[in-house]
Amino acid sequence: MVSLTRKVALVTGSSRGIGRAIAVELARCGADVMVNYVHEAEPAAEVAREIESLGRRVGVFQADVGDFEQATTLVNTTIDTLGQLDILVNNAGIIRDTLLMRMSETDWDMVLRVDLKGTFNTCKAATRFMLRQRSGRIINISSVSGLMGQVGQTNYAAAKAGVIGFTKSLARELGNRGITANVVAPGFIPTDLNAAIDEELRARLRAFIPLARFGTVKDVAHAVVFLASEEAAYITGCVLPVDGGLSM
Ligand code: NAP
Repeated sequence: MVSLTRKVALVTGSSRGIGRAIAVELARCGADVMVNYVHEAEPAAEVAREIESLGRRVGVFQADVGDFEQATTLVNTTIDTLGQLDILVNNAGIIRDTLLMRMSETDWDMVLRVDLKGTFNTCKAATRFMLRQRSGRIINISSVSGLMGQVGQTNYAAAKAGVIGFTKSLARELGNRGITANVVAPGFIPTDLNAAIDEELRARLRAFIPLARFGTVKDVAHAVVFLASEEAAYITGCVLPVDGGLSM
């Protein structure tokens, strides 16, 4: 099992879904974790209780990652309360799916603001600290939509493709300072995010997946834990699809 003992991780959007699983798996491997949410406090408190029960230190902080000041405060609060920052996972994300012809400027701006600018905001604050520390792991959550595109997701696919270009550039900028930056690109993972998709469409989507099943939040969390580990020290700028082969 990977050891993340004495590491501190910040996982954005970790009150529910994939982020929650990532936060818990990092804690299970020994990391202390800052849990972040924006709307609902109780699910975040529940994650914190689960992490505490694993014997780890945990913080909970409400911040909208799309807001530069709030994202900066989130990173600084993690460092102030947990003492350092070794692992940053940019997981917070939203969708506003609709065909381009129906997409409003607001739909576009909201998704780009959270899914792409949110990643810039936290990385900007975290790398100032990681550069001084001369170590760090940055793992940004993209999507198969960012690799392949998807009908109804011009905003989301643009943001998630942007995350890939951003991360590769960052990996080049930070490589000689002991900091890695990688992307995990999940396929279809049933969570609240896609709960509205009906069974008929799910069956059609499933038919395109070589492994013939949807992924689980744990499938994604395990990939993140690996990239956060010492065992992944020589991996940077990579995009790891966790999609059952969908995007190959
Ligand atoms: P989810 O179940 O909807 O959970 C989203 C999480 O992000 C919640 O904790 C939410 O907190 C938080 N969040 C939303 N906006 C935020 C903001 N502005 N600032 C801080 N936190 C915010 O979503 P998910 O399915 O787990 O998705 C997680 C990530 O994986 C996203 O980046 C998504 O694009 C990506 N992804 C998901 C899939 C999939 O099939 N599920 C596939 C590919 C990629 P609140 O509850 O407080 O709003």
